Amino acid sequence: MTNYPQPFEELIEALKSLPGIGRRSAERMAFAMLKWPPEKIAATGNLIVSLNLKIGHCPQCGNLSSSNQPCEICADFSRDQTTICVVEESSQIESIEKCGAYKGVYHVMNGKIIPLDGKDIENASLEKLKQRTDSGGVKELVMAFSMDIEGQATSIYLADILKNSGIKISRIARGLPAGSDIAFADSATITAALQGRTPIV
Ligand SMILES: [Zn+2]
Repeated sequence: MTNYPQPFEELIEALKSLPGIGRRSAERMAFAMLKWPPEKIAATGNLIVSLNLKIGHCPQCGNLSSSNQPCEICADFSRDQTTICVVEESSQIESIEKCGAYKGVYHVMNGKIIPLDGKDIENASLEKLKQRTDSGGVKELVMAFSMDIEGQATSIYLADILKNSGIKISRIARGLPAGSDIAFADSATITAALQGRTPIV
């Protein structure tokens, strides 16, 4: 049981549902928000409300974009549009971009294969990837999934599906620590992993 007023308790519960946030952290965040000026509370609330109104996905690669317009990377024709780096989530694009070593474009799978859960990658993302590889303008796919069993299984699964496309398929080198998520790796490690990518098929 809690002694907090109901709306405050509901805020704590909402914050607690975020990844990596436990009950104590959620309480601390809620108490901090309580001290915010009304205009900051309103502005933050509006940002959350507009999440599904103003933030969409790039129709080409699935990265986050404003209102379903092509993302900045796909719209940038100085980038190498013939090399596609395939990632699990948009957050990984952010990490790879920060290292500055990659000049191609991306494709977001929105998940990976998790055999034990029976969870599969999103079919819509896979279909879009096939359309892009079938279009003829792609020379290389770089699989950049996390260094865990599911990430590596997903790389191999995709490589197998696309092996007859005539496109070079590689994966980032195993310099990343086993089990690690690319989104949390440092730039030097990601750069080394990209440069040392090895062919899958
Ligand atoms: Zn895009």
